[in-house]
Amino acid sequence: MTDWYEIVQRVEALEDVALDRSLIGDMQARWPALPSREDLRINFYTPTFKSFNTSELSSCGKSAWPAVSITGGDCKLQCDHCKAKILEPMIPARTPEDLWRVVNEIVADGGQGMLLTGGSNHRNQVEYGPYWSTIRRIKDEFPQFKIASHTALMDEDTARCMAQAGIDAAMMDVIGSQETITQVYHLKRTVDDFEATLEALVATDMKVVPHIVVGLHYGHLLGEWNALEMLQRHLPDAVVLVVVMPFYAPAHRPFVTPDSGAVGRFFMDTRHALADTPLLLGCARPPGMAKMQIDTYAVMAGLNGIAHPSDGTVELAARLERRVQVTPACCSIAVGDEVMAVENGNGIELDLEAVLAHERAARATQPPAQATGTLGGIQVVDAGSRSAGGCCSA
Ligand code: SF4
Repeated sequence: MTDWYEIVQRVEALEDVALDRSLIGDMQARWPALPSREDLRINFYTPTFKSFNTSELSSCGKSAWPAVSITGGDCKLQCDHCKAKILEPMIPARTPEDLWRVVNEIVADGGQGMLLTGGSNHRNQVEYGPYWSTIRRIKDEFPQFKIASHTALMDEDTARCMAQAGIDAAMMDVIGSQETITQVYHLKRTVDDFEATLEALVATDMKVVPHIVVGLHYGHLLGEWNALEMLQRHLPDAVVLVVVMPFYAPAHRPFVTPDSGAVGRFFMDTRHALADTPLLLGCARPPGMAKMQIDTYAVMAGLNGIAHPSDGTVELAARLERRVQVTPACCSIAVGDEVMAVENGNGIELDLEAVLAHERAARATQPPAQATGTLGGIQVVDAGSRSAGGCCSA
């Protein structure tokens, strides 16, 4: 079998990316132990793929899956990596009446669903109580309208209320380090509280898609493997991995960019620990070189999905003979509709033979500088006729 490190070197877009050869060797060595490796699809979530070009991805400004916050931009926790900034661009719906109005506007605008979230109180609870009957009304009036919701911490009764209200997918950040809970989240709750929430959610009939924020402890990996063990004990429907982007960290509590090799090693361990669970790399990850490294390791580790992949990542997957799919999801993938893409399985499978034949032919007929690299120019499908959200038609 060809050395995976040599394979990645053949992808022009990745040839200058500094990679940990020993980690790649470990990934290749452990690959045969994965029971589902033959069927392991990898799905790339992009707004469009008529001509696969990551420069197009930033051009999408409209979302079929907007994010709505029941507290607007307010959050009592003010975690060190976020400072509630994630809430600022969301649509505010500070009352149940506002939520009803906002959803009607989203539906009228062609939206397919929403991420419903809000800032936390001091116990890391989002106070959804007054909204349950409105959410039920929304689901009764618009049964096709999907709602994914960040749960934060909740008990069994609240998880049941959430399910009865009709929430389709529940998402929470699973934190496995007490130091991180205390220091980064400023929270007097325990790791057990996070596990109890996860247990309560998986006991409902909602889709449960927890997130692990890799590098949450000021850019260092600390509780991630413990969080992974929690997920093994309470198997969810899918897991989203994101890598911390601490743009809003206060100067006196700085974050470092997580080490890409450590992130890749965690991807590999997660893949093997949750061999039958869909694993997705969400949008949030550091940009630039780190993103290219992280995406490369995500492909090699065997993750099932990557949102907004870096240049060269699709080609790498093709060269590693993965079953490659593309789901024309919109920018809203950033807020968690990965789960719906998994549920629907509506990705479009690329013809790998055609991709590789194209690459071989290009190398044979073009100067080396143009011979390989991205899949730009490969007309794999008419995205205009298959677009999921009707946006990003660039
Ligand atoms: S609880 Fe959530 S929204 Fe509030 S600061 Fe922390 S990460 Fe941000």
